[in-house]
Amino acid sequence: MLDNDLPEIDWDKMTFSYQKTDRMYVAHCKQGGEWETGTMQDFGDISISPAAGVLNYGQGLFEGMKAQRADDGSIVLFRPERNAKRMQEGAKRLGIPPVPEEMFLDAVRQAVLENLRWVPPMGKGALYVRPLLMGSGAILGVAPAPSYRFLVYVSPVGPYFKGGMKPIALKISDEFHRAAPGGSGGVKAIGNYAPGMVPSKMAKEEGYAEIIYLDAVHHRYIEEVGAANFFCVKDGVVSTPELTGTILPGVTRASVLEIADELGYEVREEKVDVGYAMSADECFCAGTAAVISPIGSIRFGDKVYEFGDEVGPVTQKLYDELTAVQQRRIPDERGWTVSVE
Ligand SMILES: *Cc1c(COP(=O)(O)O)cnc(C)c1O
Repeated sequence: MLDNDLPEIDWDKMTFSYQKTDRMYVAHCKQGGEWETGTMQDFGDISISPAAGVLNYGQGLFEGMKAQRADDGSIVLFRPERNAKRMQEGAKRLGIPPVPEEMFLDAVRQAVLENLRWVPPMGKGALYVRPLLMGSGAILGVAPAPSYRFLVYVSPVGPYFKGGMKPIALKISDEFHRAAPGGSGGVKAIGNYAPGMVPSKMAKEEGYAEIIYLDAVHHRYIEEVGAANFFCVKDGVVSTPELTGTILPGVTRASVLEIADELGYEVREEKVDVGYAMSADECFCAGTAAVISPIGSIRFGDKVYEFGDEVGPVTQKLYDELTAVQQRRIPDERGWTVSVE
């Protein structure tokens, strides 16, 4: 497949949806052994035992990152070593042999390089990179699988929320929780996501873009927005829920905190009470897929708090700075972008 053999895609109409690409990375490991170097293969179905640990007991993790075309013509990843480390943390939690950081980064690099023709033009979206780590060996009892597989596939994507930078309407769930203390909410375990599908679908049917989860103990502090981290801005203070083990430590979250601090805002990682968030000047959510998405309104019970249809000034500034760094439109003094070559 040639790089200039361009796919028939209308880059302006792309959404955040699956698109089959050309090649994928696959590696294997036995429990207690070392990861063998993986290989690139044609993208396609994989064969797995019906008794695989991942299929029966959800012993699996995923990651999500983006490769984008930058202003200088190169293709860049954003802080990929953070995804590598996060997957290692998740592997330890789920009893999976962690993938060495160098191997993870090399797999991501190869998966992007062998699918170059699927990288959208600058500003039209990104090539979403999806690493998957799973217990693939057969096991009947509830225990770590005897063998593991690490895959990396890619898919070109457009905006996560329809309408791009248009403020979204959210609803706080008074019925469902995402994660509980001592559970697996702090890692990207595949099993964390299926329980959110019905609540999210119900909210969408009512016209909301996503659901906001509260903490499972006090039922009072904001945790996350579906699969993105939550932020609010009040009187020039940028707040986000502190990491307590039930919140996913987002790479975007960490980056927004650093940028906000450098732009001179007071930054707080703390418990964010629903009441505080509903009296804030601006709210937004942040994640690789969502980037920074402004929140226009939040419903909680029979109360609706409106932040307005305009993007708040702080949200806009943080968005501009984050995306400028990610696309190398300004010098990357923090060393956050990595060229794929
Ligand atoms: C992936 C994810 C995020 C965002 O993390 P990024 O590293 O910024 O993409 C936030 N919350 C949940 C639950 C997630 O799965």
